[in-house]
Amino acid sequence: MSDIEVEFYRAEQRLVVHTIGDGSTGGRDRAGIMWPMAGLVALFAGVFGLLFGSFGNVVIHRVPEGRSVVRPPSACPGCGNEISPRDNIPVLSWLLLRGKCRHCGQPISGRYPAVELTSGVMFAAVGWWLASMEPPDYWALPGMLLFAWMLLVVTFIDLATKRIPNALTYPLTPVLLVLLVGAAVLNGEPSVALRVVGGGLAAFGFLLLLALIYPRGMGMGDVKFAAFLGMGLGYVSWGTVVIGMFVAFLGGGIISSIVLAARKGDRKDQIPFGPFLAAGSFVALFVGPTLVDAYLRFSGLR
Ligand SMILES: [Zn+2]
Repeated sequence: MSDIEVEFYRAEQRLVVHTIGDGSTGGRDRAGIMWPMAGLVALFAGVFGLLFGSFGNVVIHRVPEGRSVVRPPSACPGCGNEISPRDNIPVLSWLLLRGKCRHCGQPISGRYPAVELTSGVMFAAVGWWLASMEPPDYWALPGMLLFAWMLLVVTFIDLATKRIPNALTYPLTPVLLVLLVGAAVLNGEPSVALRVVGGGLAAFGFLLLLALIYPRGMGMGDVKFAAFLGMGLGYVSWGTVVIGMFVAFLGGGIISSIVLAARKGDRKDQIPFGPFLAAGSFVALFVGPTLVDAYLRFSGLR
């Protein structure tokens, strides 16, 4: 190998260590998978995800308005009739009713089944991911499912209202902290517990700094959301935290330049940054490692 090749090889090796090798929570990797068990966990998590997607719709709709997510039960905005349990089955009811209220025929937004389905797929992905590690990391399931749910719900709320409600970040950040630190402790991995705390603090500090320097770019809602995301990404590895933030800023930068150019410099409408943060985290968790892994295999480095 030439010097440049050696240099490149070493850089790749460092990348592996930062993203996958050392990264997957305490020496776990994707080898030796228990396929049937992982499939079963993914299936159950997916069904669970459909139900939590249904609850997510209520949260997306009511939390920005400061309303209770428990009472009153969901009703049709057209005729006020309560939604009966048989009309409240995730995705299926919407299909059977062909997107219309049973009583008055008012159209029901396709956003409802879309959120439910996305939630189901995300939960199944998390279940598969954690159950297919060697050894499986079942303790992290509750925390990582909450993490996935939050990505989805915040994305839709921020898109609709350009805000990330404290009513979500304030209670759910400590819950995630307890769930993930608890998982790390139960797995006997104190360094992972420290990384959860460190990842949250690092992402929070980084965005706080940027928000102070450039207040128009992001709000305090984004800064608080970053603390939540940093904890979840930190559970996996430091590299995942870096990739998550990098992809968020890359995506946010590209899209906002396109939008601002199309509007010819009219900067009145802010582009919400929450969806980019959420997308960055999703990419860092699921797409990033797979891409790097595929690239390394393809190029014969692994
Ligand atoms: Zn109706």
